[in-house]
Amino acid sequence: MPLYDTQTIKIYNSLSGEKEVFKPINEGYVGMYVCGPTVYSNVHLGNVRTFMSFDVIFRYLKHLGYKVRYVRNITDAGHLENDADEGEDRIAKKARLEAIEPMEVVQRYTVDFHNILNKFNFLPPSIEPTATGHIIEQIELIKTIIDNGMAYVVNGSVYFDVHKYNESKPYGILSKRKLEDLIHNTRALDGQSDKRNPQDFALWKKAEPQHIMRWPSPWSDGFPGWHLECTAMSTKYLGEQFDIHGGGMDLKFPHHECEIAQAEACNDHSPVNYWLHANMLIMNGKKMAKSTGNFILPNEIFSGDNPHITKAYAPSVARFFMLQAHYRSILDFTNNGLLASEKGFFRLMDAINLIEDLKTSDSSSFNVSEWKQKCYDAMNDDFNTPILIATLFDAVKFINQIKDGSATITKEDLGLLKETLENFTFDILGLVNVSKESTGSDKLSGAVEILINLRKEARQNKDFALSDKIRDELAEVGIQLNDSREGTTFTTN
Ligand code: AMP
Ligand code: ZN
Repeated sequence: MPLYDTQTIKIYNSLSGEKEVFKPINEGYVGMYVCGPTVYSNVHLGNVRTFMSFDVIFRYLKHLGYKVRYVRNITDAGHLENDADEGEDRIAKKARLEAIEPMEVVQRYTVDFHNILNKFNFLPPSIEPTATGHIIEQIELIKTIIDNGMAYVVNGSVYFDVHKYNESKPYGILSKRKLEDLIHNTRALDGQSDKRNPQDFALWKKAEPQHIMRWPSPWSDGFPGWHLECTAMSTKYLGEQFDIHGGGMDLKFPHHECEIAQAEACNDHSPVNYWLHANMLIMNGKKMAKSTGNFILPNEIFSGDNPHITKAYAPSVARFFMLQAHYRSILDFTNNGLLASEKGFFRLMDAINLIEDLKTSDSSSFNVSEWKQKCYDAMNDDFNTPILIATLFDAVKFINQIKDGSATITKEDLGLLKETLENFTFDILGLVNVSKESTGSDKLSGAVEILINLRKEARQNKDFALSDKIRDELAEVGIQLNDSREGTTFTTN
């Protein structure tokens, strides 16, 4: 019997505003779509947090025995500077500023995204489609929306007619907004726009002559609107109706609202059964965001090279820190929080490493089966990782008691304890036993310190060939030495 038959998951559905029992459309299969990054800059820790929430959800669903098709896209065109279909395409702008091809921008930051996610031990999604790879599908969707009377063409651009749509279906159903309120709260058109109403959104934009990223379409040489790609790719790979759609809270409106409207306009039914939204990582009381400069890069965490932190942290420590908050809660990024998480993380690892050496007895003074179900209950309750971690620490306490002789465990229970602890810690939370990690860990720092001292000695002995060799070979493996009057420090990439 698959595990999912014995465990009932309840998921907070942003659409209903309630926790609902999870029942996939096809028994044993789950289709999950998560909005991926716009690849015009390095991912910051805030982005990582959202993707991590869904990595853990993916891992748990797989653990329960579901066959999960997890689609996470790459936005490599169509995302303009602001949500009102204005400004430059973010990727084209970066390409212009750096005088490189837009696809060079895309390649650089897609590689960075994958590298960072690998360092955090993410599982790759099942499919990672790109917006530019699905222009034809997007054009076909636009044709259907126009045929169904929900979009109009002006000067080579196509806009979704939100007012027309709202006559038959509520626009704002996900973000709990009313069109009347939106009308009150949006500024009037400045006469420059082709839109009939400011609430309408672009499905296709005619490219200005200087716009490099352009494709032919029945309406103009241009590019798709940002919201359309997710409808095109989720429909293509998961069908007109699928189980889970996720993303950060900030995507609820307008992005996800527009996805619902587009899909409803094409298929006349709701595209998604469970909408999940991850909350924001904040720093200094404000959302972590590239645009405001209030962000920290993952590599800075691994190297310690950022004024907000006092030392380097291993990727699993940062992962543990983020999973100690529930995905729907705001998480405040602080050095003290990381320090506390580091302590907790090592306590957990130490306990796991102890298990092999524990002595067994005729009886157990801890109900391991009951504890195991508590671990499942935590994850079944809307993927509550902080409760799960607290429950894992019940086992840590017990393991330490067995070690000092104040508790006992049978051989059978010890096997169950080990298996469950490892399943939840490594397979579901995706943590890595730190001895297996290298980047930024204390052991790495220790080893590099030794090399820095050897290099210093070599220089004092005027053996510059050796001192340069140490510096260059460290650089080859991604460790840069930085000399200053205060001494030598290092950074990793
Ligand atoms: P973007 O590349 O800007 O489209 O963002 C990629 C993902 O990161 C989206 O799901 C955003 O909602 C999410 N995101 C952006 N900033 C934060 C933040 N400070 N905390 C958590 N998630 C974020
Ligand atoms: Zn999306």
